[in-house]
Amino acid sequence: MHQQLSRNFSILLLIASCFISGILSAQTRCLSHELHLKKMAEDANYHKNFEKENIRNFLSEISATSMIDTTVTIPVVVHVLYNTSKQNVSDEEIQSQIDVLNEDFAAHNASSLDVPTDWINLITDSKIRFKLAQRDPSGNNSNGVIRVSSAISEFQIFDPAIYSTALGGSDAWPRSKYLNIWVCQLEGNALGYANFPGSNASQDGIVINYKAFGRNGNANPPYNLGRTCTHEIGHWLILSHIWGDDNNDCSASDFPITQQAIDDTPNQEGPTFRCKRFPELDNCSTTPPGIMYMNFMDYTDDKCMMFYTPGQIFRMRTTLNGIRDSLKISNGHVLPNLYISDVAIDSVLNPVKITSTMCLDPVVRILNNGTSTITDVSIIYGLQSGLQKTFQWSGTLLPGASTQVTLPTLGVNAGTQVMEFRLIESDDVLVNNYISSGFKVNNASVSNCSGGNLIAYPNPVTSQQGICIKSQNKQSQLSWVSVYNALGQLLSEKRMMINPGDGIPIDLTNYRGGVYFVNVEGDLYSESVRFIYIPSETTTEGPENCN
Ligand SMILES: [Zn+2]
Repeated sequence: MHQQLSRNFSILLLIASCFISGILSAQTRCLSHELHLKKMAEDANYHKNFEKENIRNFLSEISATSMIDTTVTIPVVVHVLYNTSKQNVSDEEIQSQIDVLNEDFAAHNASSLDVPTDWINLITDSKIRFKLAQRDPSGNNSNGVIRVSSAISEFQIFDPAIYSTALGGSDAWPRSKYLNIWVCQLEGNALGYANFPGSNASQDGIVINYKAFGRNGNANPPYNLGRTCTHEIGHWLILSHIWGDDNNDCSASDFPITQQAIDDTPNQEGPTFRCKRFPELDNCSTTPPGIMYMNFMDYTDDKCMMFYTPGQIFRMRTTLNGIRDSLKISNGHVLPNLYISDVAIDSVLNPVKITSTMCLDPVVRILNNGTSTITDVSIIYGLQSGLQKTFQWSGTLLPGASTQVTLPTLGVNAGTQVMEFRLIESDDVLVNNYISSGFKVNNASVSNCSGGNLIAYPNPVTSQQGICIKSQNKQSQLSWVSVYNALGQLLSEKRMMINPGDGIPIDLTNYRGGVYFVNVEGDLYSESVRFIYIPSETTTEGPENCN
């Protein structure tokens, strides 16, 4: 019996090897199943673990017990193995990947709006979240990122060196407390693979090609929206590919292991590549709605991946209640010691997922992680590689407290995009000063805000006679025009009608040199502009007429 099994796996391995060598010239979406077959054939312990108690038994046992429906936050450690500066992905790119995971697993991702109506009721928050580790296995402070300058410029597929500091990679942190993600250049541009439970502890985690890691940044289209990681974590939590990895047969579904899970994904012949138009039929699902090619566990392009079904979420949460249950009580993402000055930006409340306005009032939450009271915070925000605005928040944020900050209106374009937020305080912990949110503007009912940006001129200004501001909006509105200093203190305020093209003079007679903000707020839009005042004794001429 065992010999028969081994022979079958040897044949499968041979098929897998042919598969790998055959398509490495192109980009290979995922090699998790191939890695699974290889381990089943070569690793007796893995074979035993996977076949016996660790998988089949625990799934059926756990599914019979009650599932605790609380949110689980998984501490993540990212091992960056780099040989070139490009491979050394930035902290911001790493955080963007964490942001994508949290959007996807919360079903807050903009692409979920494109799920066909036949399946729209399946969209569910998994209540699984991810956060970079804040303490290492010894309890010391950490930002959750290990950087290893490696002599290896390209790791081979399944190379054990990836998981070994001595061999040019990076040793795993305990899987009982962390999800290990290794980011490196992979042979043949393979995008990534995951180790299923049952693997050796020193190799438990996922491996992602740096070119498919994070949102935008160094990642290459069409795998530049962070979905390789979303997909591989699915495997790491015991999801199969949506077609059931059955050699393009219609015999298996993606729920072959347990009878308990809800099978809510259609039977599918094989992987789907690129993007498809609904409905997509195949030999296993011959009538609409057809196959669920937009599922995270298919092979479609990042922008066309959209959701996990409740059945898949049930499977992943079962894993977190079973073989990976120690992660639920891990403190790996909790700061070991408080810093004196540490303000964090920890979530985006608007925009998420969708908006029908091109005139956005972004909302973020800031958190005082430090031990001292915070009274002012500068936030730079805007569209990725677009116009960036600065907002000075002021108030009282006690240690441990958080607050929502509504930022001045920003005009955005229709379509799918990413908004970024960055704190510019140089506090003691920089890694939590950035966050981004992917969203979509659909059927915009308010569009006059686009291009409605406030300008200040001349800027910097040297004359105390003042500076002009002008709004490029196309509508008149009754507005409050307010001037703030760099600490966010209100210096002057007046109410006036602003018509398109009006230039508004701001008198600087009683002002000292420094940075100031003018805010124009009305019913239609609210926006700010920053200017610098450098008083000069020789310059007296000012903007007598701003127009
Ligand atoms: Zn896969």
